[in-house]
Amino acid sequence: MTGLAARPVPVPDALSAPFWQAAARHVLTLAQCAKCHEVTLPPDLTCPHCHTIEPDFAFVPVDGTGRVRTWTVIRRSFLAGFENPFVLVDVELDGHPDMRLVARLLDGADAPLNIGTRVVVEFEDIAPGVAVPAFRLEQEA
Ligand SMILES: [Zn+2]
Repeated sequence: MTGLAARPVPVPDALSAPFWQAAARHVLTLAQCAKCHEVTLPPDLTCPHCHTIEPDFAFVPVDGTGRVRTWTVIRRSFLAGFENPFVLVDVELDGHPDMRLVARLLDGADAPLNIGTRVVVEFEDIAPGVAVPAFRLEQEA
């Protein structure tokens, strides 16, 4: 970590605060609309599914497993605090085929990736009380 500038820290707003509170406990949650019960992430002022302006989201924990839909290797990051190169994976969460979660892969730039590779969420503690979701290759059972 030496020599690296501090990474940007997410700034929760009222809408996303419950997501970040759960993330700090290393729990991945999705925002579930009170009207149509569909899930989304990140939560917006309206529900992207039923378009209600009062989605009154509940943040439901999910197990954070899924499969890689695609990925990219970042060799020159324009964000401070990342050691290059690193990998961003676009993950389809199990049971939520419409949900895309793009996050860092913690296994390094040479990780053996294919479309469909199994991954599981893991949290990076980046500041006191702040953790961000990332992914790691799922170990074969
Ligand atoms: Zn809805």
